[in-house]
Amino acid sequence: MSLKGRDKRRRKRQRAAARRLAEHQRFDLGSIPEITVCPWVLANGQSCGKELAPFSLGYCEEHWPEHLQMRDIAFNIEMRSIALTTMQYAEYLETWEWKAKRAQAIALAGGRCRLCNRPQDNVILNVHHRTYDRRGYEDMDDLTVLCQDCHAKFHCKPVWPR
Ligand SMILES: [Zn+2]
Ligand SMILES: [Zn+2]
Ligand SMILES: [Zn+2]
Repeated sequence: MSLKGRDKRRRKRQRAAARRLAEHQRFDLGSIPEITVCPWVLANGQSCGKELAPFSLGYCEEHWPEHLQMRDIAFNIEMRSIALTTMQYAEYLETWEWKAKRAQAIALAGGRCRLCNRPQDNVILNVHHRTYDRRGYEDMDDLTVLCQDCHAKFHCKPVWPR
């Protein structure tokens, strides 16, 4: 094949690629709503409203880093809630989220066993899951407080303190 023929074909391919790129860009730009002012919501409930340069990041220079930080926090919360519902049960019982919920359940029960009514000064209280359906994001109704004796009777076997 002559050099001339190869150049011709290469130019043809380049033109086709450029045409595809132009079509692609037109499509993409058309589908993105044009944001002209910073939409960041300020403490007073109003939006920042600072005018944005064309092709800016969607927030003004001041609020773009804050937006990124909020996005990271939201992402971390999401990851944490996935972890809480999927980690080993023993591991879950060691989390601060469970410990806080456990303390809340005991406070709601007035620091007493829901069955025999003995106070926590005299017994070891356990927080029993009535259902594991919402493990990691339990409703208070999903839990009940039992002393270790009543808890063991309920499960018909000795239980670990928790
Ligand atoms: Zn702003
Ligand atoms: Zn009891
Ligand atoms: Zn139990």
